[in-house]
Amino acid sequence: MNRKYRKTIIAGNWKMNKTLTETKAFADEIKPQLGKHKWCEVVLCVPFVNIPAAVRMFKDTRVAIGAENVHFEDHGAFTGEVTAEMLKEVGVKYVIIGHSERREYYGETDFTVNKKIKAALAAGLHPIVCVGESLEQRELGVTAELINYQVKCALSGLDASQMRKVVIAYEPLWAIGTGKTATAEQANEVCEIIRGIIRHQFGARVARAVTIQYGGSMNAKNAAELLAQPDVDGGLIGGAALKVPDFLQIIAAANQE
Ligand code: PEP
Repeated sequence: MNRKYRKTIIAGNWKMNKTLTETKAFADEIKPQLGKHKWCEVVLCVPFVNIPAAVRMFKDTRVAIGAENVHFEDHGAFTGEVTAEMLKEVGVKYVIIGHSERREYYGETDFTVNKKIKAALAAGLHPIVCVGESLEQRELGVTAELINYQVKCALSGLDASQMRKVVIAYEPLWAIGTGKTATAEQANEVCEIIRGIIRHQFGARVARAVTIQYGGSMNAKNAAELLAQPDVDGGLIGGAALKVPDFLQIIAAANQE
């Protein structure tokens, strides 16, 4: 983390988990324990149907609500999809774009990621853009090249003021939902590479200001070590964001003096 130059963001990705009733139970349990978490922004990305209720449940807190996906067009015949404007109007602040599960199961590509980022920014949302290598790619030694390609495609055509509103999440595929976490050094190394790409494209001041999260089995035990790395500015958290005590411990790790 580097709180002098950029925001630390702890974001939960609930994926396809929690009914409305379970969302309310989570809110009721966590709200009295949230404290001020003054050093970080806390975000909960929840399934579409629960967004309006989640916005209401957390309206008197500093927890922002995010979505897990968005379409890149602003209206039309796209059955089952949701626009950025629709999300904005119901109180969404962040939207996850290009999560590896969407790339793997729903045909998300680096080009649709780029279009979705532009649509999200145009509606006033903050994209959380996921990039990351597979185990095979890491073992082949092409992690840096792959990340470079994914990040460049994702950010193509953005200007510096738009870039300042984007969050990048480095999520090695082999660490998502596997219980296998990247070491703090591995996480920092790739977050530093990402910051270098942003520096090259948008300049040092923008690069210094962009939040780059790590995601992949971050939990109550390993969060402090990961977040202590200079280029790791927060976490995108799946499994551990579903349990109030674990999520609170990660928030606490991001708020250590
Ligand atoms: C994720 O889904 O973005 C993620 C990092 O999941 P988990 O924390 O469960 O590995």
